[in-house]
Formats: sequence, C-alpha cells, structure tokens
Amino acid sequence: MLHDVLLSPPDTGPAEAAAVARALSSGWIAPVGPDLDAFEREMADRVGVRAAVALSSGTAALHLALLGLGVGPGDVVLTATMTFAATANAVVYTGAEPHFVDCDPVTGNICPVLLEQAFRDVSAQGRRVAAVLPVDLLGKAVDYDAVLAVARRHGVPVLADAAESLGATRHGRAAGSFGDAAIVSFNGNKIMTTSGGGMLLTDDVELATRARYLAAQARQPVAHYEHVDVGYNYRLSNVLAALGRAQLGRLDEMMARRRRHREAYRELVAELPGIEILGGDDDAGDNCWLTAVRLDPAGPVASAELQHALTAARVESRPIWKPLHLQPVFRERGATLSGAAEEIFATTVTLPSGSGMSEAQRDRVAAAIVGCVRGTSLVSA
Ligand SMILES: *Cc1c(COP(=O)(O)O)cnc(C)c1O
Repeated sequence: MLHDVLLSPPDTGPAEAAAVARALSSGWIAPVGPDLDAFEREMADRVGVRAAVALSSGTAALHLALLGLGVGPGDVVLTATMTFAATANAVVYTGAEPHFVDCDPVTGNICPVLLEQAFRDVSAQGRRVAAVLPVDLLGKAVDYDAVLAVARRHGVPVLADAAESLGATRHGRAAGSFGDAAIVSFNGNKIMTTSGGGMLLTDDVELATRARYLAAQARQPVAHYEHVDVGYNYRLSNVLAALGRAQLGRLDEMMARRRRHREAYRELVAELPGIEILGGDDDAGDNCWLTAVRLDPAGPVASAELQHALTAARVESRPIWKPLHLQPVFRERGATLSGAAEEIFATTVTLPSGSGMSEAQRDRVAAAIVGCVRGTSLVSA
C-alpha cells in the first residue's frame, strides 16, 4: 500500500460483523427486509425528520430527491461550486442544468449573497431556477437561515446535500433536517458507512413514498409486473442496512474520535506559522468528518509542498474538491463567482481524519507537518 495512514478509511469491527452475519442468516438478502425498515426509522429519528428512504448511494438519493422536487429538463439548479462532482451529476441526470455559486471564504460553504446574485444571473438569461442545492462542506452545516430565506423569497425548494455532515448540527438542529429534503451518503469514506449507500431524508411523506416507489423499479402493487413510470434500481440491500444500523449505533463515538483529531490538529497548527484549520473556530456543531488545513500564500510552505512531505511520510492527503466550475465536464455551465472557491482549492490540504486512526498514526501526520513547515521556514529565514 502506498500510504500507511489513510484519509478516511472505514471503521468497522465486531458489532458490524455480527450485524451482517445476523442479516445473512435471517434470509433477508434482498433490497427488502426488517433491517432496511429499522434503519430508515432509526435514521429518521436520529435526524429528526418524518421519513427516510434507504438507497444504493447518496448520488441516487440526490437524483430521486430532485425528481421529487419537480426538477426536470430545461430547469436550472443553483448549487455549490465547492463540492464533489456527484452533487452536480445528479442535477444533470434529471435533464436540468447546474449553475454554480461560489462560497464563503472562511467556511467554503455556499455564499448566501452570491446565491441571491445567482437568481438574478439566471433570470437575466430567461431561465427558471427549480431548486437550490447547498452542500455541507466536510461536515460543517451551511448557513441555512440565510440560504432558506433567499430560496423562500424566490419560492424555490431547497435540497440539502448532507452527504458529508451526518451527525453535525447547526444551532442544535441536525444536518439532514434542513430544507424540503436532504440526502446523506454511506460511502466507504464517509463518517459512517454501509460500504456503499445513501438516504433521502424529508418531512414530506409523499415525496418519500414516491422516491421509495421509483427506487424499486416503479412496480405497481399487482401480482404481474405492471409499470406506468420509468423506475430505477436504487434500493439499499437489507444486508447493508444491517451494517448501517451497527454503524449508526457507533456514530457518536466515531464522531468524538474525529473531533479529537480536529482538536489535536488545531493545537498543532496554532504553534506553526502560515497554517490554519479550514472553516474557522466555530466548529461546535461540525461532525469533523475531514479536517483540512489552509496554507497562507505568504507563509513558509505552499499546499503542494505540504502534500509532497506527507506523501514522503506515507501519509495520505488530498487537495480539497476542485471547484466544479473548473471541471472540464462542467466548464460550459453557468456560474456566479467571487474567486473564493479557487483560492480555497489552491491553498487547502485535507488530512487523515478517520475514526480508526490511532494517536501514534496522528503523531506521524503531525511530525510530517511540523517537519515541513519548520524545515522550510528555517531554510527561508
Ligand atoms: C460523497 C458525496 C456524495 C455522493 O455520495 P455517494 O454515496 O458516494 O453517491 C454527494 N455529495 C457530496 C458532497 C459527497 O461528499
């Protein structure tokens, strides 16, 4: 293996193994079964919404949520440029077009002022905005008070991409409960995993029911196969739901471990010049999914040098998401930009943050960071 310390590997153990074994021996080895039903109930309770639909991925959840909100061909969806491609890919699946909105320079989350500007930009082109799709970057909930106010003023629904923020809160309210609907991801690198999977969360029971129907091939409730809609094969397996239930039971413990990594990194960089934690200090409600550091362009080391030093120490690191308006596949799409996302992209490195990472492993990451920053600062001093 190239790296000894990974960014965010899955954290599973005996509880998960027992849950999967139980599901296998129960005979419910299909995208239907008691663990699937229980997983949806437990997630809806945890997040505080009325309905949850377990799906094969967060991307599938985005797709069905957008369809449920009435997004379709010819529409425009306003979304963050600072996000993973899946957010915008799901928009394209519906036949709609993403229009990218730049971010707050501190948090990296969608900027409400630019969101308002984006509504003007899109309507100047005679296009209709069908939905707003903000993203909770690296597990920090968006400023929903401001974003929801803008969307409401324009009479447009909000779908929250909470793929990275399960367990996070904002003013005491759970990520995944904001907006008209939200999605979370259980991909292998997320804060909890079903190996692959996702969930649609909403208070709109009708939207959830429709999504559940479309996710299971849009079968009519008759014995023969009868279809009046084009469906999808997007349901989560009962076996994976069992894995998800075991992970959900450990979510708070896993989140606390990621928070300890965040605190240790914060103490470390406080001692070093030209490096700080991305997202500011107000992280009380963050789930601390990934900790990222920002390198001051006037400081002793650039982000590429830090990544090089970490790689040399067999520590995995990555730049933060490359803004979607810069991606070749989306370059022709509309965007309302300030330069903030490009600046964050150029200066930010994500660090190993997994709940399974030991203190010894974290110390190796810390030593590589200190060596890089101090080493270069000595040379250039
Ligand atoms: C992981 C992720 C997704 C996609 O989730 P999958 O379960 O991998 O399909 C969507 N949006 C964001 C912001 C993500 O980080």
